[in-house]
Amino acid sequence: MKKHNFSAGPCILPQSVLKKASEAVINFNGIDLSLIEISHRSKDFVDVMERARSLVLEIMQLENKGYQVLFLQGGASLEFLMVAYNLMNTKAAYLNTGTWSSKAIKEAKLFGEVVEVASSKDLNFSYIPKNYTIPSDVDYFHCTSNNTIFGTQMNQFPSVDCVNVCDMSSDIFSRRMDFSQFDLIYAGAQKNMGPAGTTLVVVKEEILGKVNRPIPAMLDYKVHISKDSMYNTPSVFAVYVSMLTLEWLISIGGIAAIEDVNEKKAELIYTEIDRNPLFTGFVKNKEDRSKMNATFNLIDEKHAPAFNTLWTEAGINGLKGHRSVGGYRASMYNALPVESVEVLVQVMQELERNS
Ligand SMILES: *Cc1c(COP(=O)(O)O)cnc(C)c1O
Repeated sequence: MKKHNFSAGPCILPQSVLKKASEAVINFNGIDLSLIEISHRSKDFVDVMERARSLVLEIMQLENKGYQVLFLQGGASLEFLMVAYNLMNTKAAYLNTGTWSSKAIKEAKLFGEVVEVASSKDLNFSYIPKNYTIPSDVDYFHCTSNNTIFGTQMNQFPSVDCVNVCDMSSDIFSRRMDFSQFDLIYAGAQKNMGPAGTTLVVVKEEILGKVNRPIPAMLDYKVHISKDSMYNTPSVFAVYVSMLTLEWLISIGGIAAIEDVNEKKAELIYTEIDRNPLFTGFVKNKEDRSKMNATFNLIDEKHAPAFNTLWTEAGINGLKGHRSVGGYRASMYNALPVESVEVLVQVMQELERNS
């Protein structure tokens, strides 16, 4: 039986997607060749890339609004520097909400001045800072919508006058939002969209071409756009599986439908974390709690061996928290069924009964 997969990333994908992907690896589209052994310039693959790119715009409701979709490589980590390379002339503003924001800031500092508008580092990134001001003379503002490691999520975004950039690696396509408030969105595929190996970039074309530095071709969004995201060999398998996952998302009703499911899962787990006397939530402000990654700890570590045995025996995978937070992290990405969260809640209740 398939395990209940709470892995933080690479993460669970829909079973139907995995099945189709495995078939395509052997015989793609009935052409008696594997998806991963044909030319990326063949019509069969070019169709995949085109479809994946257009599904992204459709799901985000960004069609005909000047956005371009790219499937790049190098992970979200490469976007930390590509964003600055392509957008920063002198100065940029960053909101520091965790490990990934901090890494983005570190890379951006190689290109100019970084104004950290606010940081939640003082309390180990367990909350989302509010009430900060973004200077008016910056080239762009950058934030991280969901903090995968600490389990916080931005439920409101500041209104921004400059170019607005968001790292949505771990909550892309998980909830309704006005995506058009952002000029550049990026996301490593492996958290909520597909397998590792490709990074989604959605960028408003008009913000590009405004920096003076020469940009190496592979790091230049304009080059990738001009080649329809095929400047070099794309990560064909990762793009194909991402396309299948986007098709799956549309088939179940799109973002609105998955948001309902995600809210239900978050409600289940946080209700139990708050109710169960053995556990405590890492994020105290309820409005800052992530619906994708719920972080929690045992109040008394003496229960850890019993808890670990119980959840392992229940077929749960990937519950261990990140080393910088400790405890547990239940990652509940789009493809995780409600039933898996119900099993986890039952295990937490069983621990309480046994203790
Ligand atoms: C995982 C993650 C990253 C890093 O992604 P890679 O693709 O491994 O480089 C960046 N930002 C966020 C929010 C993440 O969750």
